[in-house]
Amino acid sequence: MQSIEKNIITIKEKINLAKKMGQEVGLIAISKYFPVNKIQEAINAGQNIFGENKVQEAKEKWPELKKQNPKIELHLVGHLQSNKTKDAVAIFDVIQTLDSIKLAKILQKEIIKQRRNLKIFIQVNIGREKQKNGIDPDEIGNFLEELKVLKEFDISGIMCIAPKDENPEKYFQEISSLAKKHNLKNISMGMSSDFETAIKNGSNFVRIGTAIFGSRDG
Ligand SMILES: *Cc1c(COP(=O)(O)O)cnc(C)c1O
Repeated sequence: MQSIEKNIITIKEKINLAKKMGQEVGLIAISKYFPVNKIQEAINAGQNIFGENKVQEAKEKWPELKKQNPKIELHLVGHLQSNKTKDAVAIFDVIQTLDSIKLAKILQKEIIKQRRNLKIFIQVNIGREKQKNGIDPDEIGNFLEELKVLKEFDISGIMCIAPKDENPEKYFQEISSLAKKHNLKNISMGMSSDFETAIKNGSNFVRIGTAIFGSRDG
């Protein structure tokens, strides 16, 4: 068994090899389904960016961990239902899955109410897959235009999940050029199986679960 600490070191080495000159890449440890003691091992190894995909699960695991470790930055990488916005705004520092104007309006209200300073990424359905959430790649321009009515609501990035069982490279390239075109600074793409390809194509946030914590099937 590899330890969580060793896994983190190995991934950081691979990230450094894949990086281009001047490229910053944040490692987000995706801790969904893993208990607090495993997360604590990662924190002890110096990891301070984490991601969860469910608001309820994050609410059970993170408030105490964040109190003890104020440097932690927690990202929501799963779909956000509007009835969970209040909890999400209280717990998360970055919401990576904005995918509708309706959600943007509810989010903004809650951010102002709670006086929080969150970063927001747009989720893009880069494979144009029916079953996946996210804005259609051709609609990003319109979506950003619609968001302009929401003051104090800055979009700082773009996030995607490449289609399964396909070479992800062309999708990563498309996301990169969309980010450039729309002037979005952060690109969240790449998971355990494809993060090196993602970094080579411009990712600056990789989301790694299995390669750090092990398999989620027990
Ligand atoms: C689970 C998850 C990941 C991590 O996936 P691994 O293959 O375990 O690295 C990344 N992004 C999202 C959105 C996820 O839900």
